[in-house]
Amino acid sequence: MTHADPAAEARLLALRSEAAAELRAAGERIESMTAARAGSNTDDEHDPEGATIGFEWSQADALRTALRRRTAEVDAALVRLSDGTYGVCAVCGRPIASARLEARPTTDRCIRHA
Ligand SMILES: [Zn+2]
Repeated sequence: MTHADPAAEARLLALRSEAAAELRAAGERIESMTAARAGSNTDDEHDPEGATIGFEWSQADALRTALRRRTAEVDAALVRLSDGTYGVCAVCGRPIASARLEARPTTDRCIRHA
């Protein structure tokens, strides 16, 4: 497997391990919240603390969903990198500006078709 753009690959791999670390942290937060909830006998509806945990939980869950999506985007970009379509706009087939790729390494659209 040869990569035309080692810098892009390095960027994508860095993004991926970053997302993996954040995903782990979010998962741990959710687990500890779930454990805290299971450990208490409180009734959510009448306990303000329970409502706060519910809110934090849904935030952490939304973050986890976003991180999973980001990981999938990075994986898709790595596939494009290995099949030679990375950095090419999916709409017009023209090269995506390198400044844009540096700012948004997982994009598959040029600035006009973003
Ligand atoms: Zn385009």
